[in-house]
Parts: sequence; C-alpha cells; structure tokens
Amino acid sequence: MAHHLVWLRNDLRCADHPALYHACAAARQTGSRVTAVYVATPAQWHYHDEAPAKLALRSQLLTSLRQQLAELGIELLLLECPHYKDIPALLLAELQQLQASNLWFNREYPLDEQHRDEAVSAALSQQGLTVNACHGDMLFAEPTLNGQGQPYKVFSPWYRDWVRKNSELALPTLQTPAAVGAAVAVPATAIALPGASSYREDLWPASEAAAQQRLHSFTLRQLSDYGDQRDIPSINGTSTLSVYLASGVLTVRQIFAAVVAACEGNRRDWREDHWFRELGWREFYKNLMIHYPRLSRGRAFKAETEQLYWQRDEALNQLWQQGKTGFPIVDAAMRQLQRTGWMHNRLRMITASFYTKLLFMDWRQGEAFFMQQLLDGDFASNNGGWQWSASTGCDASPWFRIFNPTRQSEKFDPDGNFIRKFVPELAELPAKQIHCPPTLLRHACGYPEPIIDYSQARAAALAAFKALTPVQ
Ligand SMILES: Cc1cc2nc3c(=O)[nH]c(=O)nc-3n(C[C@H](O)[C@H](O)[C@H](O)COP(=O)(O)OP(=O)(O)OC[C@H]3O[C@@H](n4cnc5c(N)ncnc54)[C@H](O)[C@@H]3O)c2cc1C
Repeated sequence: MAHHLVWLRNDLRCADHPALYHACAAARQTGSRVTAVYVATPAQWHYHDEAPAKLALRSQLLTSLRQQLAELGIELLLLECPHYKDIPALLLAELQQLQASNLWFNREYPLDEQHRDEAVSAALSQQGLTVNACHGDMLFAEPTLNGQGQPYKVFSPWYRDWVRKNSELALPTLQTPAAVGAAVAVPATAIALPGASSYREDLWPASEAAAQQRLHSFTLRQLSDYGDQRDIPSINGTSTLSVYLASGVLTVRQIFAAVVAACEGNRRDWREDHWFRELGWREFYKNLMIHYPRLSRGRAFKAETEQLYWQRDEALNQLWQQGKTGFPIVDAAMRQLQRTGWMHNRLRMITASFYTKLLFMDWRQGEAFFMQQLLDGDFASNNGGWQWSASTGCDASPWFRIFNPTRQSEKFDPDGNFIRKFVPELAELPAKQIHCPPTLLRHACGYPEPIIDYSQARAAALAAFKALTPVQ
C-alpha cells in the first residue's frame, strides 16, 4: 500500500509545490497512485478570523485546482471537521480507507499550524505511516540568523544577509509534475467552503494561470517604475500579488526567479530591486513568527508596550470600520477594503496608525478586523504590519512617529483622485479642499466632521508612550 496522499493547505497550486512534486515522483517510482485532500475547518477558521471573502476565493481556487489535478490523474477529496485538533483522526481514517502509506504536506509556520502538524505526524507515525513534511512557503527552509546565531531584530541587516544567501543558495523552482495516471473525472458542482461569501473575481481571477500571468506582466511592464509609484494609491503601481501569495497560488521562489530574469534583461542588479526588498518584509515577518511564539499568542513584540491602556470605544471602532471617521483618506482606504477585500500598503499604514495612535485602540482589535476582511490576510504580515504601526513590534515605527492623516493625504493622493473614487460624496471638491474639507462643505456634501481632534489625540498618545517603563 504505497498510495500517496497530498494534504493541501495554503498552497493551492501545482507548480513549485514540493509536497505534490515529490509525492508524484515517489508514486511514479513504485507505480502507485496519488490522491490530494483539502480539510475545511470552519470553527478553527472562525477563531482565526478568516475572511468570508477569502474563503470564497479559496473555494474557486480549489475548484480550478481540482480540474488541474484531475488532468494529472489525481483526485481531490474534500473533508471537513470543526477544529485543527480533529484533523489527525480524520486523516488517519482517510489514509486507512485509501490504503495509503504516505502523507505529504508543505510546512506552515504559525504556532497553531505547527501544533496541528505535530499532532498529525505523531498520530500517523504511531500507526507506522510515513509523514513527509516539505518546505515551500519561504525562500529558505531555515530562518536567517545573524553572526552570533541569533535572530535578527532589525530588517536592513537581515535583508542584506538574506540577499547574500539568495545569491549563493537560490534553489530552482519545481515544475508542475507530469501526470501519474489517466485523467480522473471531476464533479460538475463548484466547491463551496463553509463560511464563504463572495469576492471580487473581476480583480483576482481564481486560477494559477491568472496569478502567473499577473506576475509576468508586472515584472515585464511595471517593475522598473515600482520605486516611484508604489506609494500612490490612485495608480496601480503595486503588483496586488499578495492575494495569490496568501493562498499559495504563487511562491516566493517563482517571484524571485521572475525578478532575477527581468533585472538581467534590463541589465539591472536584482539585489538593488526595490520590489524584491518589499518581498523581504514578508519573509522577515515569517522569520520573526518562527523565533518568537509569543507573536502567535497575541502578545506584543516589545514587552513594555503591554502596559499601554488602550481605549475601548465601540462607537469609534464602528466609525473607523465603516469609513466614517471624517478623515477622507482614512475613509477612502477603509471603503477600499470593504469594496475590494484589499488595501494599498500606504493606506494600511495610515489606517492602522490612525486606529492605534489617534483613536488609541488596541492593535489586536484592528489586526483581527483586517483579517476578517482581507483577501490576502496572512497572519505574519498582518501581525507585523499592525505591530509596526502601533510601535509595539520588532523594528517598528518609532513610538513618537504619528502619521498626520491630512498631511499623508496631501503627499500621497495630491490630486485627491483616490479619495474621489471611494468617497463619492466628496468627488466634486477641488484638490485643495478634499483632504480636510471645511465644516460648511462637509455639511453640504453629507460628510461627517472629524471624529477626533488630531492634535489632542497625538499629544495623548505621545504621553502614554512616554510613560512606559522598561521591562527587563
Ligand atoms: C497594518 C498592515 C497590515 C498588513 N496585512 C497584510 C496581510 O494580511 N497580508 C499581506 O500579504 N500583507 C499585509 N501587509 C503588507 C502590505 O501592505 C501588503 O503585502 C501589500 O499591500 C500587498 O499589495 P501588493 O501585493 O500589491 O504589494 P507589492 O507592493 O506588489 O509587494 C509585493 C509583495 O511583497 C510583500 N510585501 C510588500 N510589503 C510588505 C510588508 N510591508 N509586509 C509584508 N509583506 C510585504 C507582499 O507579499 C506583496 O504581495 C500589511 C501591512 C500593514 C501596514
């Protein structure tokens, strides 16, 4: 019984998929079969704040992947149980039913996922079954450590070391495996995961081919302008690939290969590439999550910031969530999130800084809300971004840096085009007035007054951070 079972999780692709690739290679050697399985865990997803829109995207990705796998001779099974803790028994029963001896998966690094995989491995090993854990989510299997063998706490030196390592150790990407059998039949009905709502298919078509196409068109046409355009939310200056990366439709190794090829084509050094450096943040935050389990337990990286007494005000929370704060750039950003399931990076920084430093609300609450909305919700990057904005994190924004939303708006949306798109009640205002309309104009447009006084809120936040006492 050499039958191989590939357990899919946040890696919904066929190409550069180590678990699938090696399972198929092993099956070919022994002339055995490969089956894939996906386990829905609705109660766990609820606990992890998985966005209903992201589950809708995932349903469609699975439907598309089921077709791709079928052509390779691999059936995709769908199983369901409430929590991660229920998975070992479920998978064991499935392996026994299939008379399969081998389970394959790509590792995941947040704490609950690590515990889940350890429990599965222990349960299967006890029954004499083989568990093969592969590496597929980061460029390197092991986190990058400094000269003393310690985790880096500052991004820039970490990045230099990471780039050096990439130059020396970059692995080739893996191809989609060849078929391991005759094509299998595919059910006519689309997959609908529990808890899924709908999502903007027009913006992110749900297939591996669409993700690859976006990667190649971005590296071909937009990569060289990224440095100049990345901070302007009104233009499509960033890749929007985060949505595909978060569900594992693309890999960072494929992106690395595309960046190197594009830079070589333009006689540029990929080590200097601005976009690749931003991708470094994704991996840096994953490194932190591996080294510091407290991050997966809702704790601040900087222990002293646990002393902060965050405000609890559900009314303010609701106004921020709904994009009704009276700060046009903040409201436009929050409405972009509601309407598309995605938000531009500059705006994530502005809205998170507004929430934590000016409303003085707990970053954990903002982090959870983003996760409930984002199509690209990724635990490490979201946690890293929120802790950066709240100045509670590793290599975070300094505590005395508090974005002025109006100044940010004037700088990064100078003509007000982004605000006009998402806050239509202000669409007719001239650029000079759109960033902070005078009271009379607000009334005329049906737009609210600012929910806080910026200067007072800023002074209160500075005083709170200043009062922190160091923790040993
Ligand atoms: C408060 C806050 C919350 C965030 N939550 C998430 C999240 O849940 N998921 C997520 O993928 N990113 C998150 N980010 C990071 C960043 O905003 C998004 O990765 C980026 O906006 C995605 O758009 P893009 O694909 O067009 O990025 P591009 O500018 O094209 O960048 C390419 C890729 O690099 C990575 N990247 C870029 N900037 C960052 C960054 N600052 N941190 C980590 N990775 C980065 C992403 O994988 C991104 O897809 C968050 C940032 C903040 C400030």
